[in-house]
Amino acid sequence: MPELPEVETIVSDFNKKIKGLTITKFWSDFPSAIKGATLLKFQREMKNKKILLAQRVGKNIFLNLSDGKSLRIHLRMTGHLLIKIQETRSKKQTKGNTNYFDDKVNQYIHHIWYLDKNKTLEFSDLRKFATMRLLETKEIEKYLAEKKIGIDAMSEKFTLAKFNELLDAKPKMLIGIFLLDQSIISGIGNIYRSEILFAAGVLPERKNESLKKDERKKIFLATKKILKLAIEMRGTSDSDYRDSSGAPGHFQEVLKVYRRDKLPCPEKCGGKILRKKMAQRSVFFCAKCQK
Ligand SMILES: [Zn+2]
Repeated sequence: MPELPEVETIVSDFNKKIKGLTITKFWSDFPSAIKGATLLKFQREMKNKKILLAQRVGKNIFLNLSDGKSLRIHLRMTGHLLIKIQETRSKKQTKGNTNYFDDKVNQYIHHIWYLDKNKTLEFSDLRKFATMRLLETKEIEKYLAEKKIGIDAMSEKFTLAKFNELLDAKPKMLIGIFLLDQSIISGIGNIYRSEILFAAGVLPERKNESLKKDERKKIFLATKKILKLAIEMRGTSDSDYRDSSGAPGHFQEVLKVYRRDKLPCPEKCGGKILRKKMAQRSVFFCAKCQK
C-alpha cells in the first residue's frame, strides 16, 4: 500500500504537471469508488473545474479545484495515478525511451480525468479498493477530524515534543502498532514502520511506556530521516506502486529489513531478519540489533 513517501511523490508530480489545467470530462467503469455522489453528479461537478493545487495529509491526496471544491483520493492497496499526454496521430511515440505505461501494473485503468492541453489523469487500480470523494475545500479540516486522521509524520508540527506527548497518551500500546495507527500519526505504513524501528534499534513489541528518552528520540529522528530519503528516492515499489509517469520508485533498493525475513541482518550482527504479525500486518526486525 502506498505510504507517505509514495503519496508525496504523486502530489509533487501533480503540482509540476497538471496544476492549472482544467478537467473537461470524467470517465469511470467502476463508479463504486466514488463516495457521496452518483457517477452522473460527480461527472457534472468535475466538468470545467480547474486544478488549483495538490496537497497531502498522511496517505490522503487532496486536489483543490476551482469553485471551492476538493477531490479527495485514497489509493488503498494498488491504486496509482498516471499523467499521460495524448499523442496526436501525426506525432509518433518517442522511440528508445522506456514507456512505463505499457507495464502490466499500469493497465488497470478504471477512472480517467480528461484535461486540457491534451493530458489525461488515469487511475490504475488492480484491486479496486481505492476511493474518491468531492468535498468543500473549507471542510478538509473537518473531514480529517471526522475520519480521525492524525498528525502528518512530515508536518513541521510533528516535533519530538509532540511525539512524546502522543506516546505518553498511549502508554500500554506497542510501538510497532502505535506507528501504524493513522489516527495517531498519519503516513507511516507497513514498510516504513519496520525500517524506522530497525534504524532506531527498538523492537516493535516494546510498550510505549518502556521506551527511554534516547530511544524515543531515535525513533523520532529515524522517522523523519527515512521518510525524507524515501521521498527523495520517489517511494518504494515493492508491488503495484508507480509514480505519475508509470515508473517505479527506488527505495526498495535500500530496504534493510522489510520483506527480508530469513536473510542475514545487514548490520552483520550474525543474526537473521525475523518476521511476525502485528496489527494483522507483518513486521520485520532483527532481534540482535533491536532491543
Ligand atoms: Zn542485526
